[in-house]
This record gives sequence, C-alpha cells and structure tokens, in this order.
Amino acid sequence: MTKPSTDLIHHPYTPPANFAAPQPGIYKASTVFFADVAAMRARDWKTKAGYTYGLHGTPTTFTLEERLATLEGGSAALLVPSGLAAISLVSFAFLKAGDEVLIPDNAYGPNKALATGELANFGITHRLYDAMNPADLAAKISDRTRLVWVEAAGSVTMEFPDLPELVAVCRARNVLTALDNTWGAGLAFAPFDFNGTGQGVDISAHALTKYPSGGGDVLMGSVITRDARLHHALKLTHMRMGWGVGVGDVETLLRSLPSIGLRYAAHDRAARELARWFESRDEIAQVLHPALESSPGHEHWRALCGASDLAAGLFSVVFDDRYSTEQVDRFCDSLQLFRLGYSWGGPISLVVPYDIGLMRDQSVARWPHKGTLVRFSVGLEDVADLQADLARALGRL
Ligand SMILES: *Cc1c(COP(=O)(O)O)cnc(C)c1O
Repeated sequence: MTKPSTDLIHHPYTPPANFAAPQPGIYKASTVFFADVAAMRARDWKTKAGYTYGLHGTPTTFTLEERLATLEGGSAALLVPSGLAAISLVSFAFLKAGDEVLIPDNAYGPNKALATGELANFGITHRLYDAMNPADLAAKISDRTRLVWVEAAGSVTMEFPDLPELVAVCRARNVLTALDNTWGAGLAFAPFDFNGTGQGVDISAHALTKYPSGGGDVLMGSVITRDARLHHALKLTHMRMGWGVGVGDVETLLRSLPSIGLRYAAHDRAARELARWFESRDEIAQVLHPALESSPGHEHWRALCGASDLAAGLFSVVFDDRYSTEQVDRFCDSLQLFRLGYSWGGPISLVVPYDIGLMRDQSVARWPHKGTLVRFSVGLEDVADLQADLARALGRL
C-alpha cells in the first residue's frame, strides 16, 4: 500500500481523448517519460517526431511555434525568452571568431550593444551601415561578412529601407540575412516572400513581447526560417544555450495570438490619425511614420506594404528646435493617457523622449534635426481621448 502523499503524485491521470476545445491543452514539463530504455535511446530531440525533455519542446510550445511559422510564412520556429534573446540566438548560431556582422545604424539599440559588449569578446567584429543606402551596405560586405541584419521600419527614427534591395545585395554576395520583424509582425509584409516574388530574408527574429502578446505582460521571442538547414543550426545553438521559455507564458501567447490581426490594424489606424494630426501642429518640425508621404522611405513602405496597407502603431515626432529638452520633457510628463515606459504593442499608449544625437553614428548617416525626438506607441484607447491628451500636453510646452 502506498501512502496518500505518494498516491497524490501518482494519480492515475490520463490526458483526455476526444476533448476538442477552442484553446489547446497546456502541457508543463521539464521531465518527459519514456516507456522503456529502447524508446529513450531511439528518440531524437532534434526533430519534432517525439518529446525528450521540456527544454527541447512540449506539445504546447510546438503548437505556438507552428502558429508563428504560419503567421510569418516560414516552415519552422524556435521560442526564446525575449526578443533580444531571438537576436542573440541568431548571432551565436551563425557567427564565429573572425567573422563580421553588419548592422543598420538605425537598428534596435540592444542589437548593437550585443555586438559591442559580447560578440567582440568572441573575436566577432561588427560594422554599422546606412540602411537607406544599399550602396553603403554593398561597399561594407567583405570576405569576413557572414550575417547582415535588416530592420523595417528603423528603430525610433522609423525610416523605411528598400528591404528587397538590401536583401538582393546580400544574396548576390552569398551572405545570410536576418530581419528584426517586430514592427511588421508578419502582417505588414511577408518576410520570406516580398510581394509574392519568392524573394525574402533567410531568418526572421520577432519580439513576441510586442504585438503577439499584446498585453505588456509577457517577454518572449521567436526565430523563424524557411530553410530546414538554418533551422537545424539554430536548434543546436538553442539547445546548447538552454534558452527555454515558461509554458505559462506560452499559454498567454496562444490566447492572444488569434486577435493579433484585429489589434494590429486598430493600433495602425489610431497611430496614423494621430501622426497626421501632429503634421498640422506648428510645434512639430517633422513627423516620422512610414505611411506619411513626408517620412523617409515612404516609397519603400508603399512598395512593400501597399498590398496590406498596414504600418503598426508607432511613430515619432521631432519638436521644433525652439523648444528646449526641458520643455519637451514637461510635455511628456504632462501626458496622462500616454504613460512613460519602454516597449510597445499593449493596450496602453506609451511615450519615450530620445536624444537621437547620441543614438546615431554621425559617420554613417547624418541626423538632420536639432530638436528633441519623442516616440509614441499608440494603444487601444479611444483616439479622440488620446488626441485631447496630446493637445493638452502641447499647451504645457
Ligand atoms: C522590443 C524589441 C526587441 C526586443 O524585445 P524584448 O522582448 O523586449 O527583448 C527587439 N527588436 C525590436 C524592434 C523591439 O522593438
């Protein structure tokens, strides 16, 4: 006779058959049992044919991976603990001592910090290129260039590059391309098949923290590929690094993912309305939003995203340089619905002031403005309420 404490642990639970419901079952495991030693020896964690250990995947993580691969038009996905971990997984999987990685000057900042602070310790060098100038990228590719990062739109300054041209430059030189696809989210354009041409990037890294989560409460990232060999290389590094994710967070993502299309379009509509309103304000020197005709790279946005007519919920404004940094800080502090905070993609609108002079390498591309830049992430509040909040804060300048 076993004791109740033991019986509790060895409860004769069997997962339900014939139980179909809107949400998939949630399976949590570090350990996965094998029926016998032969099964233990036969099972290979490198494929999805069987389960070996929680870190290598559960039915729940595999389901989210398949849905994300579907969203972005890839064939396989890997989950990692954050968007930044997705970037570092790509870098560690494909770069070795002596290699060089090229990063756009307007890339998500921590991608550059990873290169400076970590990759350099492994003998991997990096150079920044001007994403708005494919000739600059072509000139910087050398025999040592193994990986090129691309990002559309650019971080904070929102320039939209000629993505197909940047990828074509890399393809001609046989260099791998990795896209930070957080802005496009698999909705604004197809990362592996630009405009149905069959041409696209090799790898897509996505901060699921943003639109796929949509809640401002979960950190996660994905790395998606079409080519099985690239996925295999990523999978090996993923396993060796031990970058698993919590199944509770995967459950949250599975719950929010089906509404991503509706949420993304709503964020986009509201952001465009507010960006156009800012264009009419004389306090503002420039509005940076790729769907606005006056924004850098607008024609490239139209060429790549015209079919979807989507552009995310982000934009930045540059204040006229008659306003001091202190005045612009006061504007940000005066906002009530827009909260001060990093990240984006959730229901609450966010605002961050940036000193672009410090964020851009002046030798790569000269930043034309002297005024302070403020980046907005538009949430899901009523747009008229948001506009009233902005107007009131402008009055406090
Ligand atoms: C937020 C973000 C990341 C990083 O995501 P985390 O989950 O916060 O690490 C990477 N790239 C872009 C463009 C982002 O906006």
